[in-house]
Amino acid sequence: MIDIRQIYQQNNALLQGHFLLSSGKHSRVYLQSAKVLEDPKTATLLANRLSKQITDSGLVVDTVCSPALGGIIAGYALSVALGVRFIFAERVDKKMTIRRGFDIKQNERVLICEDIITTGGSAMEAADEVIKMGGKIVGFGALANRGFCQRVNSNHKAQKNCALPQDIPLFALEDFVFEIYDKDDCPMCKEGKTKAIKPGSRGN
Ligand code: ZN
Repeated sequence: MIDIRQIYQQNNALLQGHFLLSSGKHSRVYLQSAKVLEDPKTATLLANRLSKQITDSGLVVDTVCSPALGGIIAGYALSVALGVRFIFAERVDKKMTIRRGFDIKQNERVLICEDIITTGGSAMEAADEVIKMGGKIVGFGALANRGFCQRVNSNHKAQKNCALPQDIPLFALEDFVFEIYDKDDCPMCKEGKTKAIKPGSRGN
C-alpha cells in the first residue's frame, strides 16, 4: 500500500499554516501537487495506481484530457499508464478551449484528469469543450479529491457545490478534506497572530 498523505507530506506538498487560496478563502492547509509531481518516479507511481483503479473498474478510455496548467503533469502521467492519447484544454481570455490542432472523434471516450479536484469547475469546463467537439465524458480523475465531490471507493459524500455529474465516476487516490473560511469567519484571522499568505506568491 502506498500512503498518499505521507507522499504529499514528504514532498512538502501538504503545507500547514494560514493560507490565502486563489478563491480568496482562507485555510489551515495548502496542497501543492506540483511538488509531488516534480519527481517523475513519484508521478509514475501515483499515475500507475490511479490507472489500476480505472482499469479494475472496467472503464474503457480512449483519451485523457487535462485542463492546463495544473492537470497537465498528472494527466500526462495517467495517459502513459493507461496507454492512451493525451490532450489538454487551456484558458484563452478566461474561456476554456481545446486548440493546438487536437481533434476528437465522434463518441471518443474521454477521461478528464486534474491534479486535484476541488469542486470540479475547471474539469467541467474542459468536459464541455470535449462534448462540443463530439467526445463522450466517461470519467474524471485526480490524484487527490478535496472532499467536495465523491470518488469511487470512498464513503465521503459529495457536497452541494460539487460541479461534477453524479452519474460519471470520479477516480482519485485520496480524500483531503479540510475547512476553508471566508476572510471574515477565519479563526486564524480572528486570533490575529498571523496573516494569511499565498504560497508561491513571493516568486518561489
Ligand atoms: Zn485568515
